[in-house]
Amino acid sequence: MSHDPNCLFCKISQGLIPSQKVYEDEEIYAFKDINPAAPVHFLMIPKKHIPMLELAESVDTPLLGKMMELAPRLAKEQGCRPGKDGGFRLMVNNGVDGGQEVYHLHLHVMGGPRPWKK
Ligand code: 5GP
Ligand code: ZN
Repeated sequence: MSHDPNCLFCKISQGLIPSQKVYEDEEIYAFKDINPAAPVHFLMIPKKHIPMLELAESVDTPLLGKMMELAPRLAKEQGCRPGKDGGFRLMVNNGVDGGQEVYHLHLHVMGGPRPWKK
């Protein structure tokens, strides 16, 4: 597994910095956002250090697909109501203009009853 020793989210996925874990398998880690913008707000990351979406490669496509497939299940487990009257938002910030602050690819999963900030 390729980690960047200076990367915050690599440290979190390896347990070197504490986090509120939501899910973990051999290639994905999910944890609650430290500054939630919604009643449910967690981040899903590949354990592999991919700095931003545009640096993901073809070899990463199954991993990204797995994250997308897993998101609804974890959202439901975290309390997002299923179906049209519930739901959740997925967001990837890419680069400065995209509002990215942490340069380890992450999928924001946000939900819970409206209104919320974003
Ligand atoms: P970005 O703007 O890069 O898409 O989002 C980074 C997210 O990571 C922000 O929502 C921020 O609250 C969250 N975050 C930053 N540092 C930490 C941390 O140390 N622990 C956790 N759990 N979340 C963090
Ligand atoms: Zn990293």
